[in-house]
Amino acid sequence: MTERNPNPAYKRIATEEAWVPAELMKLYKRELETKAINDPGFHSLWGFFGSESPRGQAMAARIQDLDDVRIKDMDDNGIDMQVVSLGSPGVQIFDPVEASAMARSFNDELAAGIARHPDRFVGLAAFSPLDPAEAAKELERGVTKLGLRGGILNSHTLGTYLDDEKYWPVFEAAEALDVPIYLHPQTPPASMIEPFLKRGLDAAVYGFACETGLHALRLMVAGIFDKFPKLQIILGHCGEGLPYWMSRINYMHSHISVTNRYEHVKPLKRSAREYLRENFLYTNSGVAWAPPIMFVRDVIGPERMMYAMDYPWQFEPSEVGEMDALPMDDAAKKQFFEGNARRIFRIAE
Ligand code: MN
Repeated sequence: MTERNPNPAYKRIATEEAWVPAELMKLYKRELETKAINDPGFHSLWGFFGSESPRGQAMAARIQDLDDVRIKDMDDNGIDMQVVSLGSPGVQIFDPVEASAMARSFNDELAAGIARHPDRFVGLAAFSPLDPAEAAKELERGVTKLGLRGGILNSHTLGTYLDDEKYWPVFEAAEALDVPIYLHPQTPPASMIEPFLKRGLDAAVYGFACETGLHALRLMVAGIFDKFPKLQIILGHCGEGLPYWMSRINYMHSHISVTNRYEHVKPLKRSAREYLRENFLYTNSGVAWAPPIMFVRDVIGPERMMYAMDYPWQFEPSEVGEMDALPMDDAAKKQFFEGNARRIFRIAE
């Protein structure tokens, strides 16, 4: 094990850190009892982490806290700041209009937590994607009134992807406000999860990356970045594998898009490679491993790759030391751990 550097030349700002308010946890537990929603992924993931299992209990205690528990974990592990967002699936499994009201309430609660610890937390605004006008309004309110630094989208919403233009007002708002939207994983929807579930491959082990990478590509192919060329979408987990696939996606999409083979696929203004380099930002959440981190910095650009821990889902203190030992000079480490997050989330020195 590599020891953590006790006196690094950089602050550590962790950028994909989850919070589930107590009220939302109650709503999750009610859904686990009633199974009102057809979402086997939710029932699998939260059926475990919302249970009495030791791993579930430890996670549940941490994820609901915005005060002493979380700050002690940060202090004990050299995390200076967290960018906090509503844990997956957030409000997105609920009726869209009710979910908008929940998002407002939880964003207020997050802002209050940040106000108690302004030097330790910034946050992202939740919204209800299937209530598009309200989603855009809430993102704007979150940024302009509550001081939040962007939006959190926990991927699909009850099997709906946001590539349909009717869901784009929230992206239009993000571009206008000049804030990013973090496209965070979800378990695959009912229409996709079956082949994952039997062997336990539905969640963070692999299903998250397939599902979220798919969502990112659907947005791109739909032309969202032609409509909103300055829009910035953040991908965790070293880009859900997309940087690795960039050359093949770029080649294949450039051919597919000019064939008229698919009714809903048209040529785009830029190449897939350009969108992946110009409209996406990346974090290493859940991937404390030098090769893919260095690869993303290399093929995307070092100014677009940020540190994240994925607390408390992957709360592995030893990984902080592993990240301190990345093969980078001090300036590059400062950019990775601190500088990029300060620029992207507007965190003052
Ligand atoms: Mn996460």
